[in-house]
Amino acid sequence: MAGPVSVLPPLEHPPSRPRLTPLSLAVFPRLATAALDLVFPALCAVCEARLGPRRRDPLCGPCWDAIARIVPPYCDRCGVPMPMREPPESSELGACRSSRGSSAGFARATLPGGGSEGPPPPAVCTACVADGPAYDYSRSAAVYGGVLREALHRLKFGGRRALARPLADLAVEQCGPSLPDGIAAIVPVPLAADRERERGFNQAALLAERVAQGLALPVRARWLARGRATRPQSDLPAAERSANVREAFRAAPAVAGRHVLLVDDVLTTGATLAECARALRAAGADRIGALTVARVR
Ligand SMILES: [Zn+2]
Ligand SMILES: [Zn+2]
Repeated sequence: MAGPVSVLPPLEHPPSRPRLTPLSLAVFPRLATAALDLVFPALCAVCEARLGPRRRDPLCGPCWDAIARIVPPYCDRCGVPMPMREPPESSELGACRSSRGSSAGFARATLPGGGSEGPPPPAVCTACVADGPAYDYSRSAAVYGGVLREALHRLKFGGRRALARPLADLAVEQCGPSLPDGIAAIVPVPLAADRERERGFNQAALLAERVAQGLALPVRARWLARGRATRPQSDLPAAERSANVREAFRAAPAVAGRHVLLVDDVLTTGATLAECARALRAAGADRIGALTVARVR
């Protein structure tokens, strides 16, 4: 183990429940928010406009809506979005999705096989057929760029911890329905100890806490630790990232035989998540998934 895992700092606005009667419970939060907004107008953490309708604090409605969500079809292994093949298929998908109401995230995987013309969308991309990632599956909520890139930067480097809440919710809303069953626990990708000290928190741990709430699963941050210091992946070209994190992680014996869901903010080359997966596999984990808010490719 690489020293004790530090206690997570709370979110800026923890989702505490006011102790009120059921009647006032329904009315009070909205009144309180409205009153606070009069005195201190709440501003969007990205564009600094006033938070208006459809706000997802601390993101305004337009910023929230501008995030480029990843929708099916995507590769079952690596999660890369795959192009729709034929226009008729996509309209069929749309119909299927709308008939399922709000669960738009997993229409493809459960598309009925029979009765339709043409082949179903491929389940696994050609890159994964040749050589899949070290994890068993990966899901990302949205494409890294624009508002989302800005929001993740402000979370990580600007100390805007409150952003973990809507960003984790995005991951749950977008990817939750397509996650396989049997996940034993959520495990955040550990941050190097010195970087966590500098930053004061691990953004992956903040996201993991909220994702775990959304999925009603436990967080087990101690199941995975950094074994040695590495350079920040963002300082390195893609070709060097894999070597930089090789054998950087160590998993706890508790993962043996379990299905673990790794959580991180961004999937770039996947090198860090793959190395985490290798460590978990070496310790006997049975199944390993990866969930990120954003993916670069
Ligand atoms: Zn905004
Ligand atoms: Zn793939």
